[in-house]
Amino acid sequence: CHKTRTYSSLWPPIPLPPINQPLSLAEYCLSVFHRTSADGATTFVVNATTGKTLSYSQFVSRVRSLAYSLQQRYSLCKNDVAFVLSPPSIHIPVVYFALLSLGIVVSPANPLSSNSEIAHQIQLCKPVVAFATSESSRKIPSLKRGTILLDSPEFLSLLTQSNMDNDVIKRVKVEQSDTAAILYSSGTTGRVKGVMMTHRNLIARMAVPHIFNTSQGEGNGKPRGSVTFLTVPLFHVFGFFILFAAVLTANSLVLVERFDFEEMLRAVEKYKVTGIPVSPPLVLAFVKSVLTSKYDLSSLTLLGSGGAPLGKEVTERFNEKFPTVELLQGYGLTESVGGATSAVGAEEAARQGSVGRLGANMEGKIVDPETGEAVAPGQRGELWLRGPIVMKGYVGDEKATAETLDSEGWLKTGDICYFDSQGFLYIVDRLKELIKYKAYQVPPAELEHLLHSHPEIADAAVIPYPDEEAGQIPMAYVVRHTGSSITETQVMDFIAKQVAPYKKVRRVAFTNTIPKSPAGKILRRELVNHSLSVGSSK
Ligand code: AMP
Repeated sequence: CHKTRTYSSLWPPIPLPPINQPLSLAEYCLSVFHRTSADGATTFVVNATTGKTLSYSQFVSRVRSLAYSLQQRYSLCKNDVAFVLSPPSIHIPVVYFALLSLGIVVSPANPLSSNSEIAHQIQLCKPVVAFATSESSRKIPSLKRGTILLDSPEFLSLLTQSNMDNDVIKRVKVEQSDTAAILYSSGTTGRVKGVMMTHRNLIARMAVPHIFNTSQGEGNGKPRGSVTFLTVPLFHVFGFFILFAAVLTANSLVLVERFDFEEMLRAVEKYKVTGIPVSPPLVLAFVKSVLTSKYDLSSLTLLGSGGAPLGKEVTERFNEKFPTVELLQGYGLTESVGGATSAVGAEEAARQGSVGRLGANMEGKIVDPETGEAVAPGQRGELWLRGPIVMKGYVGDEKATAETLDSEGWLKTGDICYFDSQGFLYIVDRLKELIKYKAYQVPPAELEHLLHSHPEIADAAVIPYPDEEAGQIPMAYVVRHTGSSITETQVMDFIAKQVAPYKKVRRVAFTNTIPKSPAGKILRRELVNHSLSVGSSK
């Protein structure tokens, strides 16, 4: 719309449950699931590493049993927070649904995180209990109600309570406005923050049409029988979405405990996988790998890419190599509770370079970051989003919340974008500080903070450096203290010891000063331009 310079979704508005109706995300998903009249024997999730499977009827009964146990044995209450630190397993969906149905806030994190990263997350979300494996539990400090080990016999007994006393179950009234989950993101600047998403946010996210459930959402879209292979982590909003989408549509998920490209191909053949949510590096792997011809991938019809930019050239090469697989791109943020736009269908997929159009119930505008004014159609600026999926805010951080969400409910994405005349969105650059290594978030401020703590480093700045495989790698500009002869390798090792592997500094340059604005803000753009000019002249 030219007058307000606000773009509205081209989808018809999708009605959501009345806002005052108490409803948890778990109840919502399961009620839609029951309307699909799915057979309880349908496989819900398979662990391709161990061969263990869970049918829908087992899933539903385990969720009930675990919820009962958590309430009765662990005295967990609504609004308590549960920290989840585990590689993918068939237990995670059960844990999420049990917690959500009790109004307990789910806060999952990356099990590869370092102790200090986890300590920071725990400080933010203040959990009373944790769910972890014997291995990952070592990183978790002691909590009021302890850590429940997912690989212990005790946990299995919580899942299979045979003597549930219905009289003692305290009915929990979960309001849609209650916080359902806290996921982690550094947002547009600074250190990692806890993104609070409500049951309403997630219900709104699941109720609209999306690529893993085409047509009108609510499980009446794609014929059942879809099998999705999970490559995206269940602690990231993309994985969240895929998990809840599977339940809504009564479809099956296949997961592996540790991702391996060939193991995935084997699983596609074995389980007749139909769709895979991917990050762009995986699309590149499909394009480049010779292994793809070793396996029967004929069941595969859809790859849905998101989390980082997908190159046009890679898309073209993918389409040539896999003409029968549709490659669709979506765009979203943890703060927008996942996909805010997506390409649905072949016509839209053909718009290479675009991340599709605004999803149902969404509005967007492109704003000049200097003036805060919306710009004219076709021009570039920062994308602002508004709609029922936009997060509630950052936990315990009113300042960061106010900087990200304005008083009218607009979310400032920190991405530089434009809409074309038909409402297709193109992401062209990133205004915010964020680096995305294989679609994982690497907040530069966190690495700078660590670099500053090194006795031989006088100053430092971390920027993204382009990389074909990873998209971007973190590169550090370092100013040595006088007399120091610290080497590139020493700088990289110093960081590697303290962070999750995906956050490692992978390139170092030494310099005499870090360019800064009069207010002391690092002029990252100058460093980015410098790194590119040096890189290309090498
Ligand atoms: P996260 O919160 O980890 O999902 O990261 C969100 C950020 O990832 C966005 O603000 C973008 O910078 C980037 N991103 C996600 N999807 C895309 C996409 N399809 N194209 C370009 N950038 C993307």
